Formats: sequence, C-alpha cells, structure tokens
Amino acid sequence: MRAPLGDLDTESSENIPMSATRGNLRRISAYFHPYAQESWLILLCILLGSIFGLISPLLIRSIIDRAIPDSDMYLLSLLALGMLGSSLVAGLISVAQNYLSNRIGQGVMYDVRNQLYAQLQGLHLGFFVNARAGETISRLDSDVAGIQNVVTGTFVNVVAQAITLTSTVIMIFYLSWPLAIVSVLILPLFIIPARRVGKIRRALTSETQQERADLTHILQETLSVGGYVLMKAFGRESMEKEKFRAKNSVVMKLQIRQALVGRWYFMIVGLFGTLGPALVYWIGGSLVLREAMTLGTVVAFVAYLARLYGPASSLASVHVEVTTSMALFERIFQYMDMRSEVTDQQNATVIKQSQGEVEFREVSFHYRQDYPVLQNISFRANPGEMIALVGPSGAGKTTLTYLLPRFYDPASGFILLDGIDLRNISLESLRKQIGIVTQDSFVYHASVRQNLLYANPSATEEDMRSACEDAQFYESVRAMPWGFETIVGENGYRLSGGERQRLAIARVILAGTRVVILDEATSSLDSVSETLIQRALEPLLKDRTVIAVAHRLSTIRRADQILVLDHGRIVEQGTHSKLLNEGALYAELYTTQMDWGASVDAGLLSSRRGKPDAS
Ligand code: ADP
Repeated sequence: MRAPLGDLDTESSENIPMSATRGNLRRISAYFHPYAQESWLILLCILLGSIFGLISPLLIRSIIDRAIPDSDMYLLSLLALGMLGSSLVAGLISVAQNYLSNRIGQGVMYDVRNQLYAQLQGLHLGFFVNARAGETISRLDSDVAGIQNVVTGTFVNVVAQAITLTSTVIMIFYLSWPLAIVSVLILPLFIIPARRVGKIRRALTSETQQERADLTHILQETLSVGGYVLMKAFGRESMEKEKFRAKNSVVMKLQIRQALVGRWYFMIVGLFGTLGPALVYWIGGSLVLREAMTLGTVVAFVAYLARLYGPASSLASVHVEVTTSMALFERIFQYMDMRSEVTDQQNATVIKQSQGEVEFREVSFHYRQDYPVLQNISFRANPGEMIALVGPSGAGKTTLTYLLPRFYDPASGFILLDGIDLRNISLESLRKQIGIVTQDSFVYHASVRQNLLYANPSATEEDMRSACEDAQFYESVRAMPWGFETIVGENGYRLSGGERQRLAIARVILAGTRVVILDEATSSLDSVSETLIQRALEPLLKDRTVIAVAHRLSTIRRADQILVLDHGRIVEQGTHSKLLNEGALYAELYTTQMDWGASVDAGLLSSRRGKPDAS
C-alpha cells in the first residue's frame, strides 16, 4: 500500500538534493516546448526593450554635454522628443511581452492541470482511500495556479533582467571603465543574502501549502452533507470551530512569516541602492572637476545605475522566487510520479460484449503485507448465475467485489472473465462490462436524466423510461417536481435511500452490462421501499451474472451459489438448502437470525450475533 500523501510531504523541500532540482528544471522546461514560438517572440521583445531602454541616458548625456552648452534649441527639442519616443516604444514592447508571457503562463497551467487530472484519474482506488480529498484538490487548484506566477513573474523576469543587466554592464564599461568597476564591485552585496532568504522561503512555502490543504480538508469534511450531519448529530460544532480556528491561525502565522522573511534583505538592498549613485557622483564628480570626464557622462552613468541595481536586486529576489516556485513544482511532480498499482497491459484485449462468465482461481489479496484479507478464493459463476457472498462483517466480501472491476489486483491467483485473465483485458472495456450497485451508490449533483445518461450517453427517452420502470423508479420520477430534470442534490441527498438505490439499479439496467456487482444496503428500509427494491432487483438479476454481497433473505435464497466467507476464506459453499443441512456457520447465522426475528430481513447474516451490520 502506498503511504498517505501527508507522509510524502514530510520530506522537506530544503533537503532536496541539487541533482533532483536540476532534473526538475529539465522537467519544467519541457512544459515550455509547445510554446517555443511565443518564447522566441518574448526573447525578441526583451532584446528590443533593453536596447530602447539604453537610449534614454545617452540622450541625457547629449542634452547636458552638447545641446545645452551649444544653446542648440533644435537639438534640445529633438533629444527631448527622442527620450519620449524611446520610452513610448519600450512601453509598447513591454505590453506585447506581457501578453505573450501570460499566454505561455496560462497555457502551461492548462497543460499541467489537464495532465494532473488525467494522472489522478488513472490512479488506483487505494490512493483515494488513503489520500485526503482536501489535499488532492488543493494541489490541483492552488499549486497549479501558482505556476502562472512562476511563468509570468519568474521565468520571463529572469531572462529580461539578465539581458538588461548584461547590456547595461557593457554600456557602462564603454562610458567609463573605472566608474564601471566601482559600480560592479558593489553587486555581490545584493546577491549573497538572497540565497539564505530563498532557502527559508522555499521551506515556508511548502509548509504553508501543506497547512492550507489541511484547512481545505476540514472545510470539505464538515461542510459536506454527510460531515455536516455527523457534526450536528454529535453536537461537535464548537470542537470543529476550535479545530478550524487553530489550523487557520497556523496558516496565518506562516503566511506572515513568509511575507516578512526577506525584510532585512530588502532593507539592505535599498541601502546599497543609494551607495552606488553616491560613489559615482563622488568619484565621477572629482573627474569632472579635473576635466577628465564630462558632466553628461556622469549623469548618464547614474541613470544607467538604475538599470544595473534594479535588475541585480530583482535577479536576487528572482532567485528567491525561483526557489519558491520550485517547491510548487516539486509538489506537483510528487503527484505526477505516482504510479497506479493497476495498469493496462500493452495489447490488452478489448471486450465488446462479455458472456458473463466469471471465475476466481485461488485468489489471495491483502491491503497490508502482514494482514491477508482474502485467501485462496476459488469459485465460478456461469453466465446468468448469481453468487451470494455472506459472512460476518470484515470477512472480505466487499474487497472480493473490488477485485472484479480491478479496483485492486490480487496478490496471487487469477480472476477470469469469459476465460480471459482480467490483467489481459483493457481496463476501460473491462469496466464497461460490469455494473455496480453499492450500498451507498454515488450520484452526481445533477438532474435525474444526467445521472441516468452517465451510464449510457446514447440512451433514448424510451430506454430511460423503460429502465426506470424496470427499476421501480419511474413512479418516483413522475412524482418529482420536474420529472427527469429534477436535480437530485449533493450526492443524491434529496432522494430517499430507497430512491437512490433504485436510481442506481436503473443506471445499471440502462448500461446493459452482463455482469453486476450488487452490494446490498444493510440498513432496513420501510416495507414499501423494501418491496420496491425487491421488484427492482428482479430485472437486474435476470440474465445477468451477479456477484452480490447479500443481506436480504430473498436475495440469498435465489442465489445459485452461496459463498460463506470468514476471515477472508470461503468456509462453506453451496445452495441455501444444502448449507442449512450442513449445519455449520451458515446454519448458525441463519438460526440466530431466525431467533432474533424473522421479520427483520435486511441485515441478515452480516454478523455472528445476527444483528444488523453496522459497517
Ligand atoms: P466485509 O465487506 O466483509 O465487511 P471488507 O472487504 O470491507 O469486509 O473488509 C475486509 C477487511 O479488510 C477488514 O478487516 C477491513 O478492515 C480491511 N480493509 C478494508 N478496506 C481496507 C483498506 N482500504 N485498507 C486497509 N484495510 C482495509
């Protein structure tokens, strides 16, 4: 079994080795390949932008050194206009650059989100049993949204600042190399503290994301219908509120720390920002006094300094951003790297219409290595036969039904459908052959029609009506305010338990599968609902191979074969009368049930004491 996600995150992102980070960079860059054209255009924009950015200080130099001393009004106007024009063009270029980087950012985000959703959908059931819903959604949502920032804010910025920095360095060396050396020598003062801040930020981002996922998890659990009812039923509102408040406060403190972590660094950067111009005016000014340099050159030089220290401090904080962004990608990659334990084989057989022959051959299964859940299960269901699984709670009945649609694969042994090993059948076609009606069948928050069509999108109105009639659901639909268009509510909570089951049965009838897994509800229904369900099951069970976790006497009696499971083994096998005659576990369960009250049909044979199964 895989570790729950929480465990994955305990690996602090600070301790991720450099090689892994370099590998991640390669993976990240692969996402940009489809946007090569836009990327080249951005590069062009950046180059043009920095060329135009370099023009202005040169014009200032000419104004001070030539136009003003020569009293040349025409040249002065031309140079002033030139300044305006170059900044206008630079502005237009930056708009184009912005547009392009947004396109790439949104595009990469779109791709990652699709890929992540497909990846999650392909994981085996065990993942969802162990993962917390809040965490999964948080990754899909906030982590992926963070990517947009990374692309538009970080990656484009790195390139733009680097180019600006390089071109400015070339320019200042051209203007005056002694002043340039002094200016450049100050640069490392900006960059060294940035590394430390980056590390702290990266760790904090990872921690914050984790805590926010916890917060979402609490929201989802307590504000879903089931969680809400549980909370209210046990009067746990204040406890939940306290839990939420505590987690919320952790998130708040983390975010404040995250926002403030670079404060010293940025203060120092600000200080160094004035150190440069001061030095240039001091040294350059003395050169002007000795007439070794023109005044215009000193002023232009200081104007260039803004283009030097701006990008340098930006690059230093970009480094902070990049490391922060890496944490986001690392979390996303953790998901991407998970492999489903149930996968399609190459050249797997595609079954169009199954005959409905199911066979288990010495199947064993465990969730945890040290705890076998099913051992040596062998049985065969011929097409159209019904197998009833009975036995105490926890015997492994539900798990057995999970193996047929390959929600899990057996640890050993074979399961065959129409004589073909399930592992050789394409997953999609396998699952199309199997209809599932569980105790608590899930329905989408949509109309009855949409829920029905989910099973068979090409079903006609007539098919739907007939399936609903067969499932004893049509009268209920007609009684609903908008018939087939009635919205059933979150997880079908607007339907009664019996209606939800009959909708699930109608769905399977509509899908027309030859194999059906039926996990009967253990909860008792009122006698009307009970009769309706009995009637609804008739057409479902007819001509189909059914593997039923059976709790109703009526279902059990009609089974062609009853498998009595105990501690993951088949301890008895046969028909109702044969097993009764044998006088073993089945007979014991049956007798205690009869003692307990023959009228209570639901919940039969689900526990040794004969009380309804509480699971
Ligand atoms: P039944 O349907 O007969 O009540 P189950 O198949 O639900 O029994 O469970 C069989 C055993 O497997 C139980 O001991 C249960 O605790 C265990 N089990 C069920 N699901 C999981 C899971 N996802 N991870 C670990 N153990 C599980």
